[in-house]
Amino acid sequence: MGLEGKTAIVTGASSGIGAAVVRSLLAEGVRVAGGARRVDRIEAAVALPLDVTDQASSERFVAAAVAELGAIDILFNSAGLALGRVPVDESTEEDERVVLETNVVGLMRMTRLCLPHIRDGGHIVNMGSIAGRQAYPNGSAYIASKFAVRGYTYALREDLLGRPIRITTVDAGLVETEFSVVRFRGDEEAARAVYEGLEPVTADEVADCVLFALTRPPHVNVDEIVVKALAQSSGARIVREQP
Ligand code: NAP
Repeated sequence: MGLEGKTAIVTGASSGIGAAVVRSLLAEGVRVAGGARRVDRIEAAVALPLDVTDQASSERFVAAAVAELGAIDILFNSAGLALGRVPVDESTEEDERVVLETNVVGLMRMTRLCLPHIRDGGHIVNMGSIAGRQAYPNGSAYIASKFAVRGYTYALREDLLGRPIRITTVDAGLVETEFSVVRFRGDEEAARAVYEGLEPVTADEVADCVLFALTRPPHVNVDEIVVKALAQSSGARIVREQP
């Protein structure tokens, strides 16, 4: 199924997986409105400021995107982050709040705001994680947030059943993006170590998975895609080559 002439909203469009999905949608002839806080880094023709943790910003973004695009065919919710790798008793209220407000409340808000503008044949794709399927040590807020994304996506599928809107979650393992730089608060060395000794999945390879779900025939709903580096079986179990 071709995507030519369709419209899409992509959150987290300034970096990593969101930016890769913007590129692949543009290559398919989709008109894309991308949102993020670093709006100058968005490559979509319609690049708009968006902070998914802020209700007014999210409302402004959706109104402006819909004014540019008309109705929406595709919503890709990619905006998200992790903060730190510490055990529960060293975690902070502030970090937990930011992670949950971005990954969970923000994703639910964007979905709710976009839904009235999604036309028949539309498709919502949420960026989950293997952290939302199996816990690993020292990532409690992020793990809780991604379990919530999976639960919300299942609930969305229930509530939209019978309507011509498809729902997919893409649960990825290690993908080399700015994710770890953000998680380790700018510590490039700590971020690099996450991907050392293995070949991680790239953002473009995740975008391929998203494109696969989007291009199935309209009666086919790819509910979940789980994609990991071959060298990884879970968030905790990673085989690394020794230097
Ligand atoms: P990334 O390169 O750090 O990109 C994260 C994106 O989220 C950026 O565009 C960032 O834009 C945006 N964002 C963060 N907070 C936001 C906010 N409050 N409002 C709007 N946008 C916000 O990381 P990534 O790997 O592409 O992550 C994208 C998604 O994939 C996330 O949901 C992440 O949890 C998920 N994921 C990543 C991995 C991985 O290993 N990388 C694995 C599984 C799942 P601004 O900072 O410009 O606002």
